[in-house]
Amino acid sequence: MSYVIAVANQKGGVGKTTTSINLAASLAATKRRVLLVDLDAQGNATMGIGVDKSAVGKTARDLLLEQAKPGEVIQYLPEIGLSLMPANGDMTEAEIKLRDVAAGDFALKSVLAEVADQFDYVLLDCPPALSKLTVNALVAADGVLIPMQCEYYALEGLTALMDTVNKIKRVINPKLEIEGLLRTMFDPRNNLANDVSNQLTQHFGDKVYRTIIPRNVRLAEAPSHGLPVMLYDAQSSGAKAYLALAGEVLRRHDGGQMRLSA
Ligand code: ADP
Ligand code: MG
Repeated sequence: MSYVIAVANQKGGVGKTTTSINLAASLAATKRRVLLVDLDAQGNATMGIGVDKSAVGKTARDLLLEQAKPGEVIQYLPEIGLSLMPANGDMTEAEIKLRDVAAGDFALKSVLAEVADQFDYVLLDCPPALSKLTVNALVAADGVLIPMQCEYYALEGLTALMDTVNKIKRVINPKLEIEGLLRTMFDPRNNLANDVSNQLTQHFGDKVYRTIIPRNVRLAEAPSHGLPVMLYDAQSSGAKAYLALAGEVLRRHDGGQMRLSA
């Protein structure tokens, strides 16, 4: 059975896609079988991992609307060692059509059930909205990973997200847990960032990952080369931070043995 993590925050630009790609690649580097699912019509996770979103045939849209089989959509990327369910602008159509289907909240869950025995971890890169696709992700997920920037408005958006998570947990998916809050793009010289970070740990305790993702230009550059940061610059602070995050995730879920290859 795979463990499904929704990487969600309705705010844009907080590091969802960066976290999805780099946590997925770091988990894959520890020999876990990983599926990265792009749920955003912007296709940033798809492009960021080196797949041309305008050249892909069938996408997550076709799976969600039951117009394809997983084998026709999911592609294994040998250089990175993980599998991708790509997305592009067609996802907008899935978002709209799923609103008219009675079981529209369960589309992703049924797709993932078909491939559950093929992967150890499934990471869902959510769009920047509490949309039908994000609801699909929360219905299909075991845990929610919330990336956030430590800035003044960060906590405000968190309340709405927590309300949605709790509602879905109560009504549809009782096993759903907050997997963790991840501090991203962190600059320790910024006093406000430190204040917000302290508030987070006071309020959410060990739900806040110990790993902090620093602001690191290598993380911003890597997607334009179609690579996770660990293959673009393995020595960068960003690469080390996401590997540490993978270690934390593994410790929580499977005893934490790092099966590092070479
Ligand atoms: P989201 O998916 O939440 O919209 P992204 O992961 O796309 O956010 O990140 C927004 C922008 O910030 C992107 O240009 C990305 O490359 C950059 N970025 C993300 N994390 C970092 C980081 N830790 N350091 C520097 N730049 C980052
Ligand atoms: Mg994104």
